Amino acid sequence: MNTEFFAAWIEEITSAVRAGRDHLTELDAAIGDADHGTNLDRGFTAVGEALAAAPPGTPGALLVLTGTTLIRKVGGASGPLYGTAFREMGKAFGEATEISAAELSAGVDAALAGVRRLGSAAEGDKTMVDALAPAAAALSRAVRDGLKPEEALEAAATAAAEGARATVPLQARKGRASYLGQRSVGHEDPGAASTALVFGALRAAASR
Ligand code: ADP
Ligand code: MG
Repeated sequence: MNTEFFAAWIEEITSAVRAGRDHLTELDAAIGDADHGTNLDRGFTAVGEALAAAPPGTPGALLVLTGTTLIRKVGGASGPLYGTAFREMGKAFGEATEISAAELSAGVDAALAGVRRLGSAAEGDKTMVDALAPAAAALSRAVRDGLKPEEALEAAATAAAEGARATVPLQARKGRASYLGQRSVGHEDPGAASTALVFGALRAAASR
């Protein structure tokens, strides 16, 4: 996977976030402050502008610029968390121009570690970690089992979507939704839902 592939991934995320913006915002209206979809839409629009203004030469540089832009443009909890995720993945890729499935898996692990370090959410706290952690695990398992890259990305996307759906019955223990206590039960976590879009976009980039 080269720089062009990761640029395609960001484009696919941008389209998915645009299409899903109102849905994400409705999820956030139920257990937060109704800004998650607009936050991410604004952020990825700015990422597109930043990448067009100074096209990065490596996957790592592209993802670091993506993360830095998200931190700069997206307020709230999710900007720094998503920004850190992309920056950590980019840093894990270093100067490489071609990323293998195993390196991608290591990059997603680094993204997860960064999100955990910053937000200190565990699985089951009803956050983006509930989609990101199973996606990272599925990707790493797929690589270990020698699956083809497309199959590995399919497995990661499925795991993220299942992880997001599985947040519905949980009570939030981190972020704004935790202020609601019991009343956060019965709603899908917006950040987990957007993380599922991010991994769906990775699968879409691979089948372009
Ligand atoms: P805000 O909550 O500041 O309005 P957003 O609405 O953009 O920010 O994002 C909310 C999402 O951020 C939540 O649905 C959750 O997935 C994620 N989130 C919030 N706090 C944390 C945390 N400590 N760790 C991981 N994810 C978190
Ligand atoms: Mg919000």
